[in-house]
Amino acid sequence: MPPQSSFEAVNAYVDDAARIIDLDDEALAVLRSSHREVAVSLQVRRDDGSLLVVRGYRVQHNGARGPYKGGIRFHPQADLDETRALASLMTWKTALLDIPFGGAKGGIEVDPVGMSPHELERMTRRFTNGIRHVLGTYRDIPAPDVNTNAQTMAWIMDAYSAGAGYSPAVVTGKPLDLGGAPGREAATGRGVVYVLEAAAMHWKLDLTALRVAVQGFGNVGSWVTRALHELGVPVVAVSDVRGGVHRAAGLDVPALFEATTGGGSVVDVAGRDGAEAITNDELLGIDCDVLVPAALGDVLDERTAPLVKAGTVLEGANHPTTPEGDRIMNERGIRVVPDVLANGGGVTGSYFEWSQNIQQYRWPEERFNTELRSKMVEAFTNTELFAEERGITLRQAAFAIALERVARAEKLRGSA
Ligand code: NAD
Repeated sequence: MPPQSSFEAVNAYVDDAARIIDLDDEALAVLRSSHREVAVSLQVRRDDGSLLVVRGYRVQHNGARGPYKGGIRFHPQADLDETRALASLMTWKTALLDIPFGGAKGGIEVDPVGMSPHELERMTRRFTNGIRHVLGTYRDIPAPDVNTNAQTMAWIMDAYSAGAGYSPAVVTGKPLDLGGAPGREAATGRGVVYVLEAAAMHWKLDLTALRVAVQGFGNVGSWVTRALHELGVPVVAVSDVRGGVHRAAGLDVPALFEATTGGGSVVDVAGRDGAEAITNDELLGIDCDVLVPAALGDVLDERTAPLVKAGTVLEGANHPTTPEGDRIMNERGIRVVPDVLANGGGVTGSYFEWSQNIQQYRWPEERFNTELRSKMVEAFTNTELFAEERGITLRQAAFAIALERVARAEKLRGSA
């Protein structure tokens, strides 16, 4: 059998959930395909005068419950199939978190490493102009993802507003000076930790005795690490694209931030205070209680899933587990808290930012975090209870709840 594409893999979860909720074939056919796909060729003038030509995508998967919503990533593997898969995941995530958005994703198939800020800005503006006809405050709202950040969102907002007038709510994850919400940058990582707190309480685990390993030290991974450290939970291993570092008694978290501020790597901490260098593969199989993949997709597969020693996997990244990896971990009794639940704090925070922009009113960060926590705990509790009731996995329960909500919205809107 040929290997499954990422979109096929997500649709396999959709099919499974459809069986669980007994969804009819017509409704399922709607939910399996994306509504709109825009592909653009982008010409970017490099600083040295040469021309870079790359492809960019925006896929809008489903908008039955609200405007399309999803991040934009710059990565060599951000092709149309991956973008479709991630757009579909956004549909299920926004539905599970019960926020009034649909699902979308965007990407530029490019390696941004080594590109200058001017080149990145020119590429981002070109991309925005190429997809602006499908964007809008009540149409489609991008956000940061892998290798994009608040600055990227500022450029998108500016390029879009040049034609449409001042439109802060057309993107989320903006800098605070341009209508960003205090708390949004940390929201995905904090959300992962709120889910872990809720799970520990529900499963009667002593939170501060849990040893956690985090793959990736970007936006999500670094905020997970920081939030765990604030709670006194030991982080025993972390990694980034250059490799990882491990200390069984817990890493010196402030030292990790010191090493990475200004472009360094977590690996630079190796050798200090008993911390040892490890590879990214070794991190996945490290002796710990909770593993948080927070980097890229497809890292837990048939080769690495058998190595996992953690009892719980919290999916901070999107689609970090292949269906085969998922099957292996389920058989091994590892609890997998799926991406659509675990990293839903990002889009929930984006929803808070979007609503504040529309009202031209800013919440203090404490309110942001309180409401974020309550949304994450509610989503975890609903998913856990549904899974217990039906005797199914958390992933199956999360998709089933989400599918039911989107299918209901589709039906109410009609198909004539
Ligand atoms: P980021 O670009 O800020 O960070 C990515 C991190 O992964 C970096 O530390 C990088 O060094 C590391 N990395 C890259 N390749 C690696 C490899 N082969 N092995 C180990 N580490 C590697 O990205 P991010 O925004 O933190 O996103 C990470 C994941 O979380 C993605 O799957 C993204 O879709 C998902 N996510 C992000 C958000 C958000 O708000 N940023 C929200 C929900 C989900």
